[in-house]
Amino acid sequence: MSSLAYQQNSMVDLFFISRTDEDTDVIDYHIHTPLCNHAQKSMESYVQKAIELGLQEICFLDHLTVNGQGPRNSMCPSEVGLYFQAVQKLKYQYQKQIKIRVGLEVDFIPDQIDRIHEIIRPFSFDVIGGSVHFVKGMNIVSRREQKALSNIDFQNLCFHYIEELDQMLNYDFFDTICHLDVVKKFHAPLSEAIVDKFDEILSKIRYKNLTVEVNTSGKTHSAQEIYPGPELLKSCFHKGIEITLASDAHHPDEMGRYFKQVISDLVVVGFTHLAGFSRRKRYKIPIDINGGRS
Ligand SMILES: [Zn+2]
Ligand SMILES: [Zn+2]
Repeated sequence: MSSLAYQQNSMVDLFFISRTDEDTDVIDYHIHTPLCNHAQKSMESYVQKAIELGLQEICFLDHLTVNGQGPRNSMCPSEVGLYFQAVQKLKYQYQKQIKIRVGLEVDFIPDQIDRIHEIIRPFSFDVIGGSVHFVKGMNIVSRREQKALSNIDFQNLCFHYIEELDQMLNYDFFDTICHLDVVKKFHAPLSEAIVDKFDEILSKIRYKNLTVEVNTSGKTHSAQEIYPGPELLKSCFHKGIEITLASDAHHPDEMGRYFKQVISDLVVVGFTHLAGFSRRKRYKIPIDINGGRS
């Protein structure tokens, strides 16, 4: 065993031995529904899968993209009420088995912020996640645009992505930052220069007391690492940034993916708790080292 692996294992053991709170929770804070038109299976089947996996708390965080491109990858604004009520029904129905939260993954579209505000204002969402999916008019997470993206200099794309993120952070609108470095989705892990460039973004996130989502879907994409990647995750810890945990499931079978491994990694970095949300208020959830799937 390498000394690093030994160190990691002994730290995990140490954490496990020193734990006194046996009833800690495992959460999944980013789950989609068929309303976004690219996720499969019923909302109820996500809840049932979560219970089967032993998750104690989940949060639906379906897409709301208001950019005039139609409902291809998002619910329509007129469906937000339906979505909210559908989660309330499930929350009530399954209240004895699991805690269910409801939020939205909102695309950062600067000239639509006021409109988005109007759309969500009538509903008491638990959390609003902010995402940058569009850079220079291109959907950087869409497989349909993968070919066009491959013709663009990755370093440049990263710089433009970081500019968008920076702009998003000027708005007091979001609680969590979804998949922080998703720009690497169809590429390799970020270069050192780009990781350095993220430093100001992380400082701004800390200053604004926002939460960074640890999104395990990245493990299945080209760079094969979580969002944010290991170096950015360490920086989050050192800056005192709060994190939450998410699979970004578009199918019930994707819920809780890689959680066991990622939770161990989080403990090694030094994190002791995750963030949950109720009506836009953050609370702490101790990390369960035994929780989640492998
Ligand atoms: Zn997303
Ligand atoms: Zn998502």
